[in-house]
Amino acid sequence: HFELYMNNLNDFDENDQFLFVFRDRTEEAAAERVKNEFVSIVSHELRTPLASIMGFVEILLKREVVPAKRLKYLETIHKESIRLSSLITDFLDLQRMESGKQKYIPVPLDLRSVADNVSAQWKNTSTHRIETEFPETSCYIKGDADRVIQVLHNLISNAVKYSPGADLINLRIRAEAEQWIIDVQDYGLGIPEDSRDQLFNKFYRVDNSDRRQIGGTGLGLAIVKEMVEGMGGKVTFQSVLGKGSTFSVSFKAFSPISLSHKIVVVED
Ligand code: ADP
Repeated sequence: HFELYMNNLNDFDENDQFLFVFRDRTEEAAAERVKNEFVSIVSHELRTPLASIMGFVEILLKREVVPAKRLKYLETIHKESIRLSSLITDFLDLQRMESGKQKYIPVPLDLRSVADNVSAQWKNTSTHRIETEFPETSCYIKGDADRVIQVLHNLISNAVKYSPGADLINLRIRAEAEQWIIDVQDYGLGIPEDSRDQLFNKFYRVDNSDRRQIGGTGLGLAIVKEMVEGMGGKVTFQSVLGKGSTFSVSFKAFSPISLSHKIVVVED
C-alpha cells in the first residue's frame, strides 16, 4: 500500500528534495496472516475440550449424579484432558521445530526396537489389531528416539482413526537401497485424490462427509513431515479411496558394523 501525505503543497518549494522508501511487505503480511490464523485455530481448538471439561466438572460439583452417569462424565473429562494435553504438545512441538529452537543430536538408533516398543503400547490399548513384520536383526538409522516414537505414534493414531470399519493395521520394516523403510498400512477410508497435495500442510484436514465426525487438528502429519525431514528422512504415502492407505518413512541405514573396523582382536 502506498500513500503519500502532503497536506499543503505550499509548504514545499522546487528546491525541496524527497526520499521515498518502498518496502515490500508481501512476505511479512503473509507470515502475519499465518500467525493470526494459527492463533485463532489454536484458541478454538483449545477452548472446545476445555469447555467440555469445565461443563462436566460443574455438573459433578453442583448436582447429585447417579454413579453410572458420574463415571461417564469422569471418562469424558479424562478423554478431553488427554486431548487438550496432546493438542498443547503438538502446537508447541511444531512451533519449536519451525522456529529452529528444538535442536537434537542424531545418534545411532535401532528402528526395530523403537517400533517394537511403540507397537507394544498400541497393542495394549487400541481397538485395532497391530500386526508387525520386522527383520530378524537390528535396523540401525541415525536419529532421535523421541522424534521417531512421535512419528510412529502419529501415523498409527491416524491409521486407527481413519479406519473405523477395518480393525487391522500392519507395521512393517523393510530394507531398500541402503535405507530402512517403515510402513504403516491401514485398510480404512483412504485419501481423496484432490487432498493429496495438501495432506502435510499445517491444519489441513480432509473435509469429506465420511470423516467429519473424526476429531483432529490437522497438525499430525505436519509434525511427522517436519520431524522426519529434520532427521534427514522422507515420508511418502500411497492410498486408494475406500480401501486404505500406507504411509512410509525412510531413513538412510546406518551401519554400526563400520565402527568395528577399529576393533582390534587380541588373542592370547
Ligand atoms: P488430523 O488427523 O488431526 O486431521 P493430520 O495432519 O494427521 O490431521 O491428517 C490430515 C488429514 O489427512 C486428516 O484430516 C485425514 O483426513 C487425512 N489422513 C491422515 N492419515 C490418514 C489415513 N491413515 N487414512 C485416511 N486419511 C488420513
